[in-house]
Amino acid sequence: MGWTDDRIEQLKSLWTEGLSASHIARVMGGISRNAVIGKVHRLGLAGRASAPRSERVRLPAAPRFSMRAHIPQPPIVEEEPIVLEDGSFATVLTINDRMCRWPIGDPAENEFHFCGRKPKTGSPYCEAHARKAYQPQQLRREKSRMVG
Ligand SMILES: [Zn+2]
Repeated sequence: MGWTDDRIEQLKSLWTEGLSASHIARVMGGISRNAVIGKVHRLGLAGRASAPRSERVRLPAAPRFSMRAHIPQPPIVEEEPIVLEDGSFATVLTINDRMCRWPIGDPAENEFHFCGRKPKTGSPYCEAHARKAYQPQQLRREKSRMVG
């Protein structure tokens, strides 16, 4: 017996209801269990088999997004560089161990200066810049990909 549109619809609905292939074959009559399975595969319905079956072969859902969800990355808030008493920024001449050494600007330019904020304990950088400096490689790559 061939597959008419009506029979295909019947097969689809029985399959999505979660009936087994042999059960469907019995309900529809005139076809074997193998014919049901073959047709289900050709229709691309196999992956959407009944709930208890798909539970066992369920694929991990959207890995890209779930990975992000597991590593919450609060945005880095970069503060303005400090301004020294004389109105200038921290430079190579005025920088010291109690100042964040995050470079700002082009070292070849006169305006080049350092962040100069209070560094984090055990780091040459302030909180925000320490986080920026040690950002996971993957995150950086993702960012450059977005820019490019
Ligand atoms: Zn800093």
